Amino acid sequence: QPIIIFDKVNKWYGNNFHVLRDIDLTVAKGERIVICGPSGSGKSTLIRCINRLEEHQQGRLVVDGIELADDVKAIDQVRKEVGMVFQQFNLFPHLTVLENLTLSPMWVGKMPKKEAEEKAMHQLNRVRIAEQAEKYPLQLSGGQQQRVAIARALCLKPKIMLFDEPTSALDPEMIKEVLDVMIAMADEGITMLCVTHEMGFAKAVADRVIFMDQGQIVEQNNPHDFFNNP
Ligand code: ADP
Ligand code: ADP
Repeated sequence: QPIIIFDKVNKWYGNNFHVLRDIDLTVAKGERIVICGPSGSGKSTLIRCINRLEEHQQGRLVVDGIELADDVKAIDQVRKEVGMVFQQFNLFPHLTVLENLTLSPMWVGKMPKKEAEEKAMHQLNRVRIAEQAEKYPLQLSGGQQQRVAIARALCLKPKIMLFDEPTSALDPEMIKEVLDVMIAMADEGITMLCVTHEMGFAKAVADRVIFMDQGQIVEQNNPHDFFNNP
């Protein structure tokens, strides 16, 4: 039983910009997929449809058995199952690292403060950033900020994690620390889709590399073939 099904999914921006063209894609539970392709080819739009940050207009999209149609309940449901990490971290600058987790909109008011803090500290430990819990995001390096963003997504115990160029805003020496955290997550069996130009992640853990161009999936390979293809 696949966890994500795109069945002839089409999307337009405005009336005539056809950004996703007949996307057919089936993702197995626990699969790790890297999506690459030129800028503007629709990669970001494709993954943003999965948690309904973008809406498709044609075709079927089913995420963990939830049919993503125009239904608010389905959107709430799916956002509980799908974590997302962005290029620009998207942390609240006026909140501490710990508060960025405990006061995140999906979480706040759902449990006693002490319990939220314990769970948050557990996730911060997982990404090895617990010592920075009382600092503010701008006091951290980019790589540390991105690990906080990952910890925040993990607090919701998502079945699926989406990454939109998670290392593109980082200095080279910080890319590895974020990739190591992602590789550790992959080992725990979370389904992952990652838009990236960073082939380190693909080489280390991807089960499949998808290549997009002009709104279409033009090639799919297992990474072994992909990296050995001249
Ligand atoms: P990629 O992630 O491959 O760079 P995107 O999915 O971000 O591609 O964007 C695909 C195309 O859609 C780009 O040409 C972009 O300018 C356009 N686009 C993205 N978001 C919007 C939007 N909200 N409205 C109109 N056009 C958009
Ligand atoms: P990416 O880094 O994924 O290629 P962009 O830098 O193109 O994304 O876009 C950043 C944000 O602006 C995204 O949320 C995207 O949806 C939106 N966007 C991109 N192109 C357009 C556009 N032509 N009109 C409106 N919004 C857009």
